[in-house]
Amino acid sequence: MPTDRALLAPYCTNLERPVFALRNLPEEVVAVLFAYYSRSTDSLRDNLARLLADGDLALPGGAPDEAPEGLAAAQEKARQFHEKWVVGYGHSSVAEHAVVHLAVEDVSIVATKVIEDCRLASFTEKSTRYVPFDGDSFVRDPAVVASGLLPVYEAACRSALETYSRLLPVVEAQVVERFACPPDWPARRYASTVRAKACDLLRYLLPAATRTNLGLTCNARLLEHLLTKLYSHPLGELRELAAALQREATAIVPTLIKYAAPNAYQQQTRAAVAALATDLPAPTPTATASSNLVRLVRAPDDPVGELATAILYEAAHLPYGDLRAQVAALPAARQQAIVDAYLADRGRWDAPLRALELVSYTFEVLLDYGAYRDIQRHRMCTQTAQTLTTHHGYETPPELLELGHGAAYDAVMAQSAAAWATLAAAVGEERAQYVLPLAWRKRLLLTCNLRELHHFISLRSGRQGHVSYRRVAQDCWHELHRVHPALAAAVRVDLAEYALARG
Ligand SMILES: Cc1cc2nc3c(=O)[nH]c(=O)nc-3n(C[C@H](O)[C@H](O)[C@H](O)COP(=O)(O)OP(=O)(O)OC[C@H]3O[C@@H](n4cnc5c(N)ncnc54)[C@H](O)[C@@H]3O)c2cc1C
Repeated sequence: MPTDRALLAPYCTNLERPVFALRNLPEEVVAVLFAYYSRSTDSLRDNLARLLADGDLALPGGAPDEAPEGLAAAQEKARQFHEKWVVGYGHSSVAEHAVVHLAVEDVSIVATKVIEDCRLASFTEKSTRYVPFDGDSFVRDPAVVASGLLPVYEAACRSALETYSRLLPVVEAQVVERFACPPDWPARRYASTVRAKACDLLRYLLPAATRTNLGLTCNARLLEHLLTKLYSHPLGELRELAAALQREATAIVPTLIKYAAPNAYQQQTRAAVAALATDLPAPTPTATASSNLVRLVRAPDDPVGELATAILYEAAHLPYGDLRAQVAALPAARQQAIVDAYLADRGRWDAPLRALELVSYTFEVLLDYGAYRDIQRHRMCTQTAQTLTTHHGYETPPELLELGHGAAYDAVMAQSAAAWATLAAAVGEERAQYVLPLAWRKRLLLTCNLRELHHFISLRSGRQGHVSYRRVAQDCWHELHRVHPALAAAVRVDLAEYALARG
């Protein structure tokens, strides 16, 4: 009907077809409209028209930024709906239809890792590889400030960042001397490759306290989890960040994140586990010279048999146990042929299909914090990380030594180690980690299914990657190859070494 059409036009990309997009609507109203699908026989457009008419709304002028004001009544109806159904009755998935985009600027690298641990969100973070960092921009943890040790902390962070800034143009010039521009490369490509190479070599110097920027897109349900986690975190920076995020996101999803608050279970359990761990033996220092290390600590006994069973399951009509027994009775070559057939026709960009998710592995990785920063982004993995300390030494890129910067590099690491020891004794390891540059190592359990392992190894071993995480991905492949060579053979891995990462 004409009135409805005029009413609906600003909010739907078309008024005729069964597939359309919503626009210009407040996020909580979008969530309500989708929620109606679960309770209404009418179409979304009918429900939207009713919502708009009931609200006795003035039509918005058509400009997208005027729409939310004109929708105040619908927003209020949405609030009442969410209070009753999402908050009151726990119909929580409705909140996933309300999406928030948050710019999170000037936070520490430590803080980004805690935020990015929320696996269902989407992130883009300022690159340590393509963007030079500011020489004096780092976060000061409130507990460190209160401890009276700020001068020690600031001296170590400043020294690391100053060395980074001082060496950046020097190393860039040295890279140019060592690697001439290939004749077929445009000057711009060469310049950005040289910059990336210098940043790659020097990012090990950046303290974990370094300020960075992060784009975060997530739904309101996840945002409430994230806020709860941040409010419950021992680091003051993260608790302050929780308040700032909630304040800003309230403008977009006022009802759905209203009840985010510190969580006693999270706080008490963290303290209880720390107490349980006090009797464990002291850490054994790892030699600084040894390189990042990958060990496979958990693998299936019969992955080919399990995988062949998973592959056949959807096409079969047998219970899992019976099918597993049938497959186990097949000759090994036949089981392998089933797996090979499943993977054979993949194109260059095709991910393997889902049966590979039924086989999973756990790797233990000792890696520099810079590589951890990148690898932590793989949301399909279950990542269990120990706190960043000085117990496992630091990585030194051999090329930096060849370029004559070993003494300056080691001096930064020595100062950061001394500052860390002082701070750890006074305010604890969690807060002391801010002062450590990305070269210091940390230990990580990386658990993932074979499908994600394909993705992780092929993406992270690629030529364009940083040498440090390339080595982790390559070593994961070597470990897989050691125990299950036939499965490793199907994984696309780049084992070559490149002088210039991009190209
Ligand atoms: C060379 C290189 C440069 C990079 N530079 C930057 C940079 O400057 N800044 C930066 O922030 N990151 C950077 N990254 C990280 C990159 O953007 C990814 O975040 C990271 O590689 C994790 O990969 P993923 O998201 O594909 O994998 P995972 O999180 O492991 O997910 C596996 C797959 O699941 C699917 N998936 C998972 N979650 C979602 C989701 N929420 N929505 C849709 N699909 C999903 C995707 O198909 C994905 O490939 C860089 C990566 C590389 C390799």
